[in-house]
Formats: sequence, structure tokens, C-alpha cells
Amino acid sequence: MQVNRRKFVSSLGAAGACALFDPSAQASASARARVDQATRGVPTPKIKDISVIEVQIGTRLSVVKITTDQPGLYGYGCATFTQRADLIKPAVELYLKPLLLGWNTDRIEDIWQTCWNSSYWRSGPVLNNAISGVDEALWDIKGRQVGLPVYQLVGGKVREAAEVYRHAGGATPEALVDSIRKLAATGARNVHIAIGGGTPSNAATSPDPFGYQIKSLDTTSPPYDPDAHTRQILDAFAYVRKELGGDIGLGFDAHERLASPRAAVQFCKDVEQYRPYMIEDPLAPEDEDYFREIRAQCSTPISMGELFIHPRDWEFLLENRLIDYIRCHVSEVGGFSAARKIAVLAEMYQVRTCWHNPGDISPVGIMANLTLDVTSNAFGLQEFGGNPSEQIAEVFQGAPQYKDGYAWVSDLPGWGVELDEKAAAKYPFESAQPLNGSWGAVRLPDGSIIHQ
Ligand code: MG
Repeated sequence: MQVNRRKFVSSLGAAGACALFDPSAQASASARARVDQATRGVPTPKIKDISVIEVQIGTRLSVVKITTDQPGLYGYGCATFTQRADLIKPAVELYLKPLLLGWNTDRIEDIWQTCWNSSYWRSGPVLNNAISGVDEALWDIKGRQVGLPVYQLVGGKVREAAEVYRHAGGATPEALVDSIRKLAATGARNVHIAIGGGTPSNAATSPDPFGYQIKSLDTTSPPYDPDAHTRQILDAFAYVRKELGGDIGLGFDAHERLASPRAAVQFCKDVEQYRPYMIEDPLAPEDEDYFREIRAQCSTPISMGELFIHPRDWEFLLENRLIDYIRCHVSEVGGFSAARKIAVLAEMYQVRTCWHNPGDISPVGIMANLTLDVTSNAFGLQEFGGNPSEQIAEVFQGAPQYKDGYAWVSDLPGWGVELDEKAAAKYPFESAQPLNGSWGAVRLPDGSIIHQ
């Protein structure tokens, strides 16, 4: 027998009809029941507090801690932006914290989008790092809540560990080769090389390995001559290949400091004969059209993206197949959730990932990098500064480990990293810091400033 729906509803009165037929209430109750079943009744934690822990050990590290209303359940996320480190704490504690107190911690993507849209103007490095700290802390909480490492929450491993590249350098070609040999003895199969110092900016201040004479009209900073340095690094490639042969992988970070886009094209052609595994940032982001010329004229593998901060900054380079590796500082693009999307975008174009990690990143952030590495088929290489120092290990228990040329992700719940806040308090930020906390301005011999 068919039910006369109109008569039935009117017989209940307005309140009864609402209780029985409100589709949103029914859907919500149904969804809640399914979640309870899926999580075996584990109640959803709520955000109780958000704070930033600042630690200066070598570089200035910012780690976000989110505590929940459940005893002992909290999480950590990396928000390290060494060049503007003092701005992260207020960005998190004055702006994101009031927005998020009381929220359910399980809504990670919703919280990411809410933070991203919270300031109207989006995608700046300070806000992105603040979001990254919150985002990664929420992933940590979710992992701790269910007793699984984050890599298990996003599909599990596709590889056991991340192949890394290390950094070798020396004031002379002989010292450079010695540095590479030492790293190779630890199992390293890939090394970025630098000659004359750690970065091109101070190359000209160290002993002049090939007899180049560089003088400067500027007295406030060391001179940097891009043409001289280009010759130095090409000579260094030749020397290392002569001494060590072809088995060791060699890379180089041009740091956007070649003399011009035309010089970048020429350099990528000249270095091709030494079979580098990658040349990093031969061009600045604003010169990306010139990647077409590099691509057309040589097969030197190119990595790019360290300075990009918007998740779609890679679109042009990927769509046009102009690079081989995308790289970024994961916290600078908004953290683990944002970087996962970039990795998926790269995978669609057969481009590999190579996340930035020369050392200016907390162990929590490194673990986020390694989690991306072991869960993505698009992984290529992982930059890795080395095993944690004694001081880092004192503050961060469970920091990622390097062995036999690989870096290993933790199998402990969440990121697997615990932060000892008492130990951290021994290493506060220093009040006086130079411009960017590390290398300072880079000037040509005529005194004019160029990209750092
Ligand atoms: Mg770089």
C-alpha cells in the first residue's frame, strides 16, 4: 500500500516533520556513525593550543606545536624560514591560533585551505611557513592518534629509503676531491660540488685555485665574479672527473648567479660533457622562458624551484617539459599537504622531486621531506645535510638518520620526532642576526648587487 506522504507529514506537525525528514541532519548522523565505526569510536581531538618553539643551533629553526584536548596527544610541524625567522612566531600565534582554537584536528585539508584564505593576500613565505607548521603538526597528531607513521596515512611506502646527494667543497681542486672521497666513504653516490668555498658568493674570497685575479670596487662584501666562477666550476668538474672517474654523481647549484640568461645556456652546454646528475637553478624564476633554449641545446638535467612559493609556480616548466627535477623548501610552499600536490603534478609530467634540505630545516621538516620521498613514485633525489649534530640530537629525539647513501624515514607514529622543550630553551634565538642569517649580500666586482 502506498503511503499518502502529504497526509502523513501534516499529521506529525512542523517539528516532527523536520526531525524525520531533515536530510542534512540524517546525513550528518549517518556520516558520524560511519566515522565512529571507522575510527573504532576514537573521539576526534580538538585544538587546545598552538605555539611556536624557536631553537637556534647553527641556524634558526621554528617548530609549531599543537596540543589537543586529549591528554598526551600533540604534534609538531616545521615552519622554519631562516631569513625572516622572527616573523614566524607572531604569524602563527597572533593570526592562525585564534582562528583554529577548538577545531577538530582531523580536518587537515580544510584547515590548510582556511589558513590559506585567511589573509586575503595569499602565498607569501611567512604565511606559508606558518601554515606548514600547523599542517605538519596536524599530520603528526593524526599519526600519533592511530599509532602509525605518516607515510602509512598517505598510501604507504613505494621505496625503503631516500637516495640522497651530499655537499662537497674545497678551496682548491685537491681539497674538493678530498671532500668527495670522504663523503663517498660514507656511501654517498651523489655530491653537489663547490669550489673556493661553500657557496658561489664566497668563492672569490678563498684561495684562488686556478690563478684568477678578482678585485672588487666594493668594500662592504666579498666580490663575486660570475664569469670567473663559471670557469672555476667547469675546471673543477674536469679535475674531479679526471681524478675520480665517472662513477661518482656530480651536481652543481648555480644559485641563479650566472652572468646572464645567455651565460646560463652556455654553461649548461659546457658542463654537459661531465654528465652531471643535475644543474640546479641555472636561471632565476623571472627568466624561466630561457629554459626553452637550454632544453633545445643540451641534455644537461635541470632542477628548479627552490625559490617558488605558490603550488602552481611549476606549471609552466612542467607543462613544457623544461626541467627534470622540481625542488622546493617544503615549508615555504605551505608544508606537507601542499608539497604532496606538487609531487602529484610532477608525476603527471615524468618530472622528479628533489626537496630542498641543505641544513636550514628542522628534523620534523626533514621527516616530512623523507615521507614525501618514500611515498611518491615521482621521487628523484633528496638533498641531505648529514646526520644530526650533538646539539640537534639533544633537542630533537628521533631525527632522521643517514646511512650508506640513503636517508631513512622513522617508523614511529606521526613524524617519529620528539622535541625536548627544556633542552630547546637552552638554544634561544639570538637578538642580532645579519640580513638572512647566513651569507649576506652578493655583489659583483663593480659593487652592484645581484641575487643571493
Ligand atoms: Mg639551491
